[in-house]
Amino acid sequence: MTKLEQLKESLAVVSDLNGAASVLGWDQQTYMPPGGAAARAEQLATLGRMAHEAFISDEIGELLEGALAESTGSPSDSDESCLLCVVRRDYEKARKVPPVLVAGIARAASLGMEVWVQARKDSNFPLFQPAFQTILDLQRDLAQCLGFEESPYDALLDQYEPGMKKSGLVQIFSELKAGLVPLVQSISERLDRVDDGVLHRTYPEADQWAFGLEAARRLGYDFQRGRQDKSVHPFTTSFSVNDVRITTRVDEQFLPTALFGTLHECGHALYEQGISQKLERSPLAGGASLGVHESQSRLWENLVGRSRSFWKFFFPHVQRAFPQNLQDASLDCFYRSINRVEPSLIRVEADEVTYNLHILLRFELESDLVEGRLALADLPEAWNAGMKASLGVVPPNDAQGVLQDVHWSNGLIGYFPTYALGNLLSVQLFEKAQSAIPLLTAEIERGDFQSLLDWLRRNIHEHGRKFLPSQLIQRATGEPLRAVPYLRYLREKYSEIYR
Ligand code: ZN
Repeated sequence: MTKLEQLKESLAVVSDLNGAASVLGWDQQTYMPPGGAAARAEQLATLGRMAHEAFISDEIGELLEGALAESTGSPSDSDESCLLCVVRRDYEKARKVPPVLVAGIARAASLGMEVWVQARKDSNFPLFQPAFQTILDLQRDLAQCLGFEESPYDALLDQYEPGMKKSGLVQIFSELKAGLVPLVQSISERLDRVDDGVLHRTYPEADQWAFGLEAARRLGYDFQRGRQDKSVHPFTTSFSVNDVRITTRVDEQFLPTALFGTLHECGHALYEQGISQKLERSPLAGGASLGVHESQSRLWENLVGRSRSFWKFFFPHVQRAFPQNLQDASLDCFYRSINRVEPSLIRVEADEVTYNLHILLRFELESDLVEGRLALADLPEAWNAGMKASLGVVPPNDAQGVLQDVHWSNGLIGYFPTYALGNLLSVQLFEKAQSAIPLLTAEIERGDFQSLLDWLRRNIHEHGRKFLPSQLIQRATGEPLRAVPYLRYLREKYSEIYR
């Protein structure tokens, strides 16, 4: 066996351990009884440690060196070259972090989340502050271990968005913010032009479930290689290219929760199901980054799912599914309802227009925290001031303000920006697909998504983690990530809706 073949076998073991851990994680959030929590935490910690140890072993290092020495001459975008490049990057990074720090971060995250749950319930930021301080200190240590050139924030961001830097985000986000703030203000003066009352009627759970499944199937989600279950927070998880699962939650008093939750997770799942079978059981069998992943969920949820073309096909279906609620509604009324804009306090409930302003605020605050310009004690005040400045609303308490999201309590710093990057990229990709498929709009109006999915498969999905996000984006769209197309899309769409 060549060194490359031996390396692939060792990496497949790591992939199996991670896949098994994902099964346990999926079960934990869907079917596990509460009594299973403590044992499950141990099982997940054991599998996580085994996978980490197997990956950072000297054996992998030697095989990697041997395989690199063997591999002269294969093209730089071949599966083999990309595998070696990605494994070397992951390996060098993983070896930089001492196991004691890995364990400390995991412990702080699980304690932090527990304290956060209570602090949010009581709307008590000072209760969370000491745990958050520990998490922040450990993340700063992590940044030092990983190394950086410009800002410690870069090292943290790179874990989720490889190759992206804080300075790059500042550039893209300042352009985005300059366009969004006046747009939000202008819509805020016309809020009464859209009434979404029709979405707040009673929609029976079983019918919502069936409609969501029908929509996911039409988009191309393969139920032979996936399934949908219920969970408190919707998510997508992959155990293999051939077993990619989604979850959703249902609110009987608000139709969009389950429907757009399903479309969103379906977008993530189409990506995972579309990864080349040749990359199975390798470190390349995943998304290029969280930002690229989010571009797929947002593309299907918003660019497709909240478009007029999509509802030209689906509106009669949704009317038949809920005749008592929608018989008297028009397509136009329904379309405007699902695109209603309102500056609000909670990120996960935010519409397309205001959503990114939530992300921009978190990015500004967390980079200030990491770089030591902001003290934790001053965070709630800075949060409220930021909300007022960008969205014109002020949280009445910290539960609806700085404590609303789980991420920081879980040690995820440098993660939020990927949501905004995904939104921007979703528009660039969709516009590129539109120019490559001249009849795309007509196809969507017929409920036919095959050529769009094929385009995404070829340009994004099948490559898995082979390329850095910046390379993948350049290959797919012919340009770097930009804010302008997203702003143009919003202005056109919402000028029409809000006149
Ligand atoms: Zn997502």
